[in-house]
Amino acid sequence: MSHYDVLVEGAGPAGATAAYYLAMQGKKVALVDRAKFPREKACGGGLCVHIEEFDHIISNWDDFLESRCLRGIVYGPDFMPVDYVAEKPFFYNIRRLKFDNTLVEYAVNKGATLIQGVAVRDFEIYDDKVVTKLRNGEEITSDVIIGAGGSFDLVSRRIREIENMPMRWKDEDIAMALYFEVDVGREFMDRVYGDERVSMAHIKYQNLDGYGWSFSKDTALNVGIGCPRSVIKKLKKNGSGWDEKQYLLDYVDTLKEQGWFPKDIEVTKKMISGASIPVGMGMKCTVGDRMLVIGDAGGFVSPLSGEGLYYALDSGRIAAESLDTLFKEGNFDKQSMMLYHDTWSNKWGDDLEWLKVGWHLLMVMPNSLIRYAALDEETKEFFTHMFVGSMPAAKIKNKVLALIAKGALTHDFLSHVTGKHQEVPSLTN
Ligand SMILES: Cc1cc2nc3c(=O)[nH]c(=O)nc-3n(C[C@H](O)[C@H](O)[C@H](O)COP(=O)(O)OP(=O)(O)OC[C@H]3O[C@@H](n4cnc5c(N)ncnc54)[C@H](O)[C@@H]3O)c2cc1C
Repeated sequence: MSHYDVLVEGAGPAGATAAYYLAMQGKKVALVDRAKFPREKACGGGLCVHIEEFDHIISNWDDFLESRCLRGIVYGPDFMPVDYVAEKPFFYNIRRLKFDNTLVEYAVNKGATLIQGVAVRDFEIYDDKVVTKLRNGEEITSDVIIGAGGSFDLVSRRIREIENMPMRWKDEDIAMALYFEVDVGREFMDRVYGDERVSMAHIKYQNLDGYGWSFSKDTALNVGIGCPRSVIKKLKKNGSGWDEKQYLLDYVDTLKEQGWFPKDIEVTKKMISGASIPVGMGMKCTVGDRMLVIGDAGGFVSPLSGEGLYYALDSGRIAAESLDTLFKEGNFDKQSMMLYHDTWSNKWGDDLEWLKVGWHLLMVMPNSLIRYAALDEETKEFFTHMFVGSMPAAKIKNKVLALIAKGALTHDFLSHVTGKHQEVPSLTN
């Protein structure tokens, strides 16, 4: 039976990043994925500027970067836009097929062993090791196992069981997102999306909680919609025949009307795929004896935008750094593993919570917030950075408290609680 220092279950951005940093420390790492790389993954492929924290990303942009985004347009439900133009890129676009494969290559080049095309079936934690069983019958031992298998990860389920946590995210804490990517040609992209490669979002499209997006790659558009599962379930239950793929096709029609999508490209339901995104602000406990979870497995996604790539990479790096310390001490019990939990929690735990507050505010009073955000360049910048996930919690908190104190948002709020339409007032600074 082969023995590794660490077995990483799942070679998405989180797992590949953990494997990369662990291999750099000289650890013997097994990186196991049920898929064979390169593999596709449902995603908008947008990266917030925090990604610049990673040297191996910014020094290798040519390996995978599609475009740098300098302009963001966020429309409210009444189609009022917040149009923000930046001097420096505030959002980067990649395509997952290439990006994920490149991250795996980086890990392998540093010495990680990639075991692909075979899933982890189960694992057992013993006092002195972890024994992991693969679907092909092979058994691997390691000192530690990292769960990086996405929203329905095996290790996160084990931690939930041990900690008596609910076994699944609540419906309002899981977003269902659908998307498609289509090549629209350089001429269209250059003419319509320009050098600044506009990224756009439509908040509460057709008045449903959630948003639609169109992200511009080099010559392709990535278009999608995301809604909490609770909303989708309710719509499906009411018997009106509501269908989420049709909802996305309606959104494409709106983009065509607005000129953001080529009229001659027909999008069919067959081109659409999707996946769930955990937006519940991170699991309350992400470690156990000899185990921890990273990326979507830990629920590390912005509850406002559904952006999880930065958190996937950063939790992978934090896990590797924490384990480096623990290998020196030779102790992997739950209490020691809390080093990892406390580190991510101190770094961006509050951000996730305040982004959830931002989400609720935007869903309850979208028109007021969009009107407010469009007031001047400073608020446009604040709002856009918050939306794409690069605004720290403390700043969001201050802004939200200032807005509440100013009473600027009362009209939309009244509409929400009374159920009667209230005119949104014009705001001035
Ligand atoms: C439609 C959509 C759009 C999105 N858009 C964006 C965006 O624009 N920007 C952004 O930042 N985030 C976006 N996200 C979120 C982002 O995709 C995730 O946060 C990110 O993929 C998390 O990375 P991960 O490595 O944790 O998990 P994943 O990327 O899901 O990787 C998990 C890996 O684990 C493997 N695996 C699972 N189970 C096992 C097993 N038992 N054994 C072995 N291998 C296993 C899988 O094959 C997979 O390769 C979007 C998500 C969706 C669904």
